[in-house]
Amino acid sequence: MDPLDSVIERLNWLRGEIARHNQAYYVHDAPVVTDSEYDVLMRELEALEAANPQLITSDSPTQRVGAAPLAAFGSVTHTVPMLSLGNAFEDTEVRAFDKRVADTLRAAGKLSPHEEVTYFCELKLDGLAISLRYERGLLVQAATRGDGQTGEDVTMNVRTIKAIPLKLQGSVEEIPEVLEVRGEVFMNLADFARLNIAQQARGEKIFVNPRNAAAGSLRQLDSRITAQRPLTFFAYGWGDIGGLQMPYHSDMLDWLKRLGLPVNEGQHVLARGAEQLLKFYAEIGARRAQLPYDIDGVVYKVNDLNAQKVLGFVARAPRFAIAHKFPAQEATTTLLDIEVQV
Ligand code: NAD
Repeated sequence: MDPLDSVIERLNWLRGEIARHNQAYYVHDAPVVTDSEYDVLMRELEALEAANPQLITSDSPTQRVGAAPLAAFGSVTHTVPMLSLGNAFEDTEVRAFDKRVADTLRAAGKLSPHEEVTYFCELKLDGLAISLRYERGLLVQAATRGDGQTGEDVTMNVRTIKAIPLKLQGSVEEIPEVLEVRGEVFMNLADFARLNIAQQARGEKIFVNPRNAAAGSLRQLDSRITAQRPLTFFAYGWGDIGGLQMPYHSDMLDWLKRLGLPVNEGQHVLARGAEQLLKFYAEIGARRAQLPYDIDGVVYKVNDLNAQKVLGFVARAPRFAIAHKFPAQEATTTLLDIEVQV
């Protein structure tokens, strides 16, 4: 048998498995494996494809985001695609990311030889991504990420989330014609625990973790159910902003905050070079258990928005940002921890 045949066989198996897990996780909010088990499959697929680039197919899960939206919701085409993030598990991968970024920026004349890259470091909230569209300051549409190109219309449900303003703050001059805000819908741990206790008392479904509770609550066909679920939101990015230009990611978040959008204040830092990124990771790791919500890592984003443009994107993620993931806290542990805290 040609050795390539066994590679192809393994690739097909991995792609099938991952597609099945994507469907369970993104479409049905009911994963059948843990995130770390999923990550192991994805890493193996990435490594096999990196070693055999001629075998990469456009429908491979490494080339795509999430899963196709459920037809039961109306669909929304994202004017700016909603991508995923590349990820790093080891310090060496973070150093390699920083080196790639610095080398590209130096080659483009955007970074001097001894200068280090400045990154905006954020928490990686474990909820689900949402895109909020404001027109002349009014919330007109909210969509899930879906497969990155097309998401589900969850406007009615999002309107029930109190943290999300229905109207932006500011004068007519300050408010742009169009503003697409992107961020994470999630559930605080204490609210998640209360919800599960109430669900149990009613003999209804117990959620495995806050991420699944948030996704299951937001993706309800009846917005009256969503209204009873304690969802909240932090903004961390944007899509269509009608040509508005600002120099830094940090400026954009300050601006979103001034418009009345909640950002995860006090948890952001600017860091220079890989060693400061690793320091941030260690500090957040030490505080992770005290945070009022689940995070599954931290995110490093090049702060200079012009530099972000130079770096660009690969198929499913930007080259200017990376998620540095924490070791998994498994579902059963999360549930037990929460029950003890109540
Ligand atoms: P991801 O969750 O690793 O990273 C991208 C997402 O991070 C964004 O879409 C956004 O929602 C979120 N995010 C949170 N804070 C952010 C911030 N500050 N800035 C930018 N984005 C932020 O990628 P993904 O493609 O959504 O999902 C892949 C991961 O999902 C896997 O690594 C695995 O952990 C999990 N997953 C699990 C299963 C399963 O069966 N258990 C299946 C599919 C996916």
